[in-house]
Amino acid sequence: MTKVYLRKGREKSVLRRHPWVFSGAVDDGRSGAEVQSGETVEVVGAGGGRLGLAWYSPQSQIRLRMVSFGAEGASGDGEGLVKSLVAAAVARRGALAGGENTAARLVNAESDGLPGVVADRYARHVVCQFTSAGAERNKAAIVAALMECVPGCLGVAERADADARRREGLAEGGFAVLAGEETPPLVEIAEGPVRYLVDVRNGHKTGFYLDQRLAREAVAALARGRDVLNCFSYTGGFGLCAAAAGAASVTQVDASQDALDLAARNERLNAADAPDRWCARFDYVCADVFKYLRQCRDARRSWDLIVLDPPKFAETRSQLMKAARGYKDINLLAMKLLRPGGILASFSCSGAMDAALFDTILAEAAADAALDFQVVGRTGHAPDHPVALAFPEGRYLKGVILRRM
Ligand code: SAH
Repeated sequence: MTKVYLRKGREKSVLRRHPWVFSGAVDDGRSGAEVQSGETVEVVGAGGGRLGLAWYSPQSQIRLRMVSFGAEGASGDGEGLVKSLVAAAVARRGALAGGENTAARLVNAESDGLPGVVADRYARHVVCQFTSAGAERNKAAIVAALMECVPGCLGVAERADADARRREGLAEGGFAVLAGEETPPLVEIAEGPVRYLVDVRNGHKTGFYLDQRLAREAVAALARGRDVLNCFSYTGGFGLCAAAAGAASVTQVDASQDALDLAARNERLNAADAPDRWCARFDYVCADVFKYLRQCRDARRSWDLIVLDPPKFAETRSQLMKAARGYKDINLLAMKLLRPGGILASFSCSGAMDAALFDTILAEAAADAALDFQVVGRTGHAPDHPVALAFPEGRYLKGVILRRM
């Protein structure tokens, strides 16, 4: 196996089990000259000690992505190693499997020891993203392992449109079935009492925000009898689970008409299931949330429960200030639309913004609104989206549930 040497003093992050080694830490002169894109290499410290195995990314600032750590540890050729990593990740989900959920993330990239590999199960279909050179090179072995170890799996498909592929020098593409049966255009999943149709070909990520499952449960638990405003609704997740929990009305707001159309289809799918208890009034608004909240303010409208789950406002640290203003703006507006005792469930999926900064922004918004709020809950990644303890970059999702006093 090709050896890649690190420069003197640059092995600390690997010893702390952080999965990324940047190009400046690699001693190119001493390492094998002909390393292939995505090849599995042995990472060696300047002193000659084995630090672990990594996937080599020649075009990325992140030159090495660790797949195992330590002087002993996993070894073997790329394929055997990949199969055992996939099998282990899938087996870990078995222990977490929540009774009525038919969708889950099976492989969460770096945090499952498979850098740049995401595999999401939607009922009996698996949809993957491969966003590192090593993931791309080992794709066939990963797909074969998924077909083999996911119980009842009918097929494995890929979404090759993630921006991250470009940063790794990988070709961007669309949706393709890589093994097994053709994936239906809309795959039906169940999450607790709610069913959703997932557009795995064109939807965001691999089709659905699986990472927000705990947040949907938290919102549902507070939704009974309430008028709910679900901002950035996408295909309706928070609004539908609020309706299933007995919300009085649900207003879904999104800038994408396609997303709202699927949200409406999801409403009909669930209403057909249980017409007796599905009595929420639904409203669909195709609008820019920033503008819509101002219109509601001017029209003196109010709600009992508002969900704010915007897209990532900050991609990088440099965009943080602008992002902070965006978060403060929508949260301030939403706070003012809440009735006394009302709930604001506010989320940020910007990894560049940490939980403490998000809290500060919410507190500033409340101060500007001249209102008092209590934190009644916090949410984060669902357990099928584990984050390696040594990998804070994998932690991006924050949710704060506030009650107006
Ligand atoms: N809450 C959703 C996920 C939200 S994803 C869920 O749980 O499934 C973010 C959504 O915000 C996308 O559907 C996108 O179309 C929408 N969006 C982005 N910017 C927007 C804006 N300014 N106004 C309204 N919707 C916006």
